Amino acid sequence: MSRPPKSIIHLDMDAFYASVEILDNPALKGLPVIVGGLGSRGVVSTASYEARAFGVHSALPMVTARRRCPEGVYIRPRPWRYKEMSDRIMAVFHRYTPLVEPLSLDEAFLDVTGSYRLFGAAEEIARRIKAEVREDTGLTVTAGVASQKHLAKIASGMNKPDGLTIVPAGGELEFLWPLPLKSLWGVGKMMQEKLKSLGLVTIGDLAVLERGVLEKRFGKFGTHMWELANGLDAREVEPWNDAKSVGAEETFGENLESPEEIKAALLAQAMTAVRRLRKQGLKGRTVTVKFRDGKFKTRTRAKTLSRPTDLRDEVYKAVLDIYEKEAPTLGPMRLLGVSLSRLSYVGEENLDSEPEAPAVPVQRSLFDFEAEPPQMEPVRNEEAVKRAEKLNQALDQLAGKFGIDAVRPATLTKPKK
Ligand SMILES: [Mg+2]
Repeated sequence: MSRPPKSIIHLDMDAFYASVEILDNPALKGLPVIVGGLGSRGVVSTASYEARAFGVHSALPMVTARRRCPEGVYIRPRPWRYKEMSDRIMAVFHRYTPLVEPLSLDEAFLDVTGSYRLFGAAEEIARRIKAEVREDTGLTVTAGVASQKHLAKIASGMNKPDGLTIVPAGGELEFLWPLPLKSLWGVGKMMQEKLKSLGLVTIGDLAVLERGVLEKRFGKFGTHMWELANGLDAREVEPWNDAKSVGAEETFGENLESPEEIKAALLAQAMTAVRRLRKQGLKGRTVTVKFRDGKFKTRTRAKTLSRPTDLRDEVYKAVLDIYEKEAPTLGPMRLLGVSLSRLSYVGEENLDSEPEAPAVPVQRSLFDFEAEPPQMEPVRNEEAVKRAEKLNQALDQLAGKFGIDAVRPATLTKPKK
């Protein structure tokens, strides 16, 4: 007996934050609605489709948005309200399968392979979910149906808003190959440019290359792109339930010896942790660092901040404080991990300071120092840290798009001499 082909649905709410604002204030219907941080460093979270016609899109600096769309309606995010609606939407998804993997408040993968007997084929389930989401929330969702995550994700992006795109089983390559390279999930602008300079235009162009060509040129990521382009994506839908902590952990092939290597790895992990927090709309108050040495001795040390954060600088500062304190008695590191716990949902003040913004000096008064004596400011190897940050930003972009650990920051642990 062969196993039934996988049925994956990717669901993505249409202009989610903006749609919720319009739902709650119908007078905004038909207007360019822009939700985001309204301060001088704010960025756009979501733009309604009317606003997108002005060239306003998410992640755009608010200053630019106002220039492009002076007549727009600008609204501060109300994260608690989006979370409330997100819970309702996710509840609809859970009616059809326990295998729901949220990627953010408004987006999820569902594996409905096993739901066939109860609810019918994936296409039918997608239609029912769309109708029920609309009924239960008044909002629209776009769905993509395919035999794998990558194609389902691409499919849901094709027909927005309120769309449904099916990639028929057996028709994967026919669907995929005519698409431009930017449709490959996880391929950012820089990589697109590189591929373009190789004369590649469509996903099919990349797919027919020999696997080794891309591997030689781009390493593991090259292989990954080649596999996706050839319809090979075996990643499972991983259900995620309310986590108590969010973070990143890595076991190293070779133990890390120097403080520079260790700090670079910790920085990468702090950044990954922060990215994951933000993705889930969370902040954390307790920062925990896990150290394991070559002899498998493990210690975890935590520091609780005076308020929850999702800011890289604040998290990394706490991590460094912990590390500097432990450093004198630490051997070579086999494993490091950074996580945040005591999680809460993001408050509206958050969106005004982006991680890309210049580092704000962290006030010591922000932190609980308990009964600690005042410490010396940790000495940072500025160059190593800068290099690590740069690398990590690139990795972060890639990894963020995959929503998984497709890109390990392992290279950061060996700064070039
Ligand atoms: Mg969306």
